Amino acid sequence: MKRPEESVVHGSQALADPRPLAQPQDLPALDKLLRQPEVAALAAEHGHTLVAGAARQLLAGLRSQALADALPSSSIEPDALATALSRRVHARLAPRLRRVLNLTGTVIHTNLGRTRLPRAALEQIQALMGASSNLEYDLDSGGRGDRDSLIEGLLCELTGAEAATVVNNNAAAVLLTLAALAARKEVVVSRGELVEIGGAFRMPDVMKSAGARLVEVGTTNRTHPADYQRAIGPRTALLMKVHTSNYAVQGFTAAVDEAALAPLARAHGLPLVTDLGSGALIDMAAWGLPAEPTPRHMIEAGCDLVTFSGDKLLGGPQAGLIVGRKDLVTRIRKHPLKRALRLGKLPLAALEATLRLYLRPERLAEELPTLRLLTRPLADIAAMASAVQPALQAALAPRYTVECVPLQGQIGSGSLPVERLASAGLGIVPVEKKGAGRALQQLAEALRALPTPVIGRIQDERLLLDLRCLEEAHLLTDQIGLLRASDRRQQLSD
Ligand SMILES: *Cc1c(COP(=O)(O)O)cnc(C)c1O
Repeated sequence: MKRPEESVVHGSQALADPRPLAQPQDLPALDKLLRQPEVAALAAEHGHTLVAGAARQLLAGLRSQALADALPSSSIEPDALATALSRRVHARLAPRLRRVLNLTGTVIHTNLGRTRLPRAALEQIQALMGASSNLEYDLDSGGRGDRDSLIEGLLCELTGAEAATVVNNNAAAVLLTLAALAARKEVVVSRGELVEIGGAFRMPDVMKSAGARLVEVGTTNRTHPADYQRAIGPRTALLMKVHTSNYAVQGFTAAVDEAALAPLARAHGLPLVTDLGSGALIDMAAWGLPAEPTPRHMIEAGCDLVTFSGDKLLGGPQAGLIVGRKDLVTRIRKHPLKRALRLGKLPLAALEATLRLYLRPERLAEELPTLRLLTRPLADIAAMASAVQPALQAALAPRYTVECVPLQGQIGSGSLPVERLASAGLGIVPVEKKGAGRALQQLAEALRALPTPVIGRIQDERLLLDLRCLEEAHLLTDQIGLLRASDRRQQLSD
């Protein structure tokens, strides 16, 4: 009933506004839009279903804008509609999971996909995943095989363990181990090791989910052998050690290491299980990196089982590895949860290829991206910063200054939490001190909006781009020019 009045208002606005507003009734009908030549061409390329669906959504959106008196007439001209529709169709077809440039300074960044797979793993995926494979088929006997058997030998060789099995990730490895060995029984853990790995992975909760009862011993900072000794009783299933991989207890501390705990476990006939988390398969110190316990160390120290991740220091796909005593691994494999948590064929192919790289340790720093990035010479990183600085400065002038700066990065994913990696990169500071915080946020946003989003970090009133993980400078420099345009838009809107 109010319509006529409203149109009067629209009418007068249209006169005053250089960009007149469109009314809902000005919008074309769906089939008229679909008959427009550019739109028909779009449908010929991508099919009627997708294009008609997108056109329906586009028109619905424009209709609400028109009803809110917020739709300029220019937006409903045929060309404008075709462009908007094409953009919508291409946005629907573009993957949401995208490549980004990790310039955060954290090499193994859980939010940014952790490890980059080695070329060998990518090639295996490419070669195998579009075809049938002997995933669970024994080519010798022609009978049923076991997917674990494809990598068990390699894992045993690399860790010194008797047996090995793999699941979806290390959280699953811990859950399955506890469910198989400690359901309705007690697990003894030091209070200093009740870790939270982020998200919902907290050791006490995992114990509960596995049906095990947690028996905490010692205190946050100090735990002694006698604490474990006193906690062992008729319901004890195993002794557990958890690598405190994302924090460090420093100062007046005492912990009982695996070598000291193993004789106690053995004397009581209990398995000693260590959740290593990161699980570097090689001695990191040999590459000049902070030392990290390896599964082999743990097995040699007397651990019966060791669990660790495939996509932390190991440098492979997401996976959880369980290595150790054969009888225990067999029990784990037989548990029904194993089937639910098993590793998919895609990561399995990548894991096998990654593990094989360890057979040639001399070439590892070249072939395993994680190790290559962690051991990248500082001079190399600094040289790249110098090479990139002028282009970035040109793109961001006059609003920001860009300088080459020394930086402190980190390994990440909870590995070696207190250690810092000397690195280098670019420090970006807004020229205008007033509103500097906002200017930094705007720049961070503009970097994230690039075709290959660039993720840096804001620290001490600077935006820092750590270049350790940028191996090809052109991935950054090729798109830097787009920042200039986005900055101009930003200034206009300020
Ligand atoms: C990272 C970590 C986990 C979880 O491993 P995911 O592979 O991420 O599931 C468990 N325990 C420790 C000690 C860890 O560091």
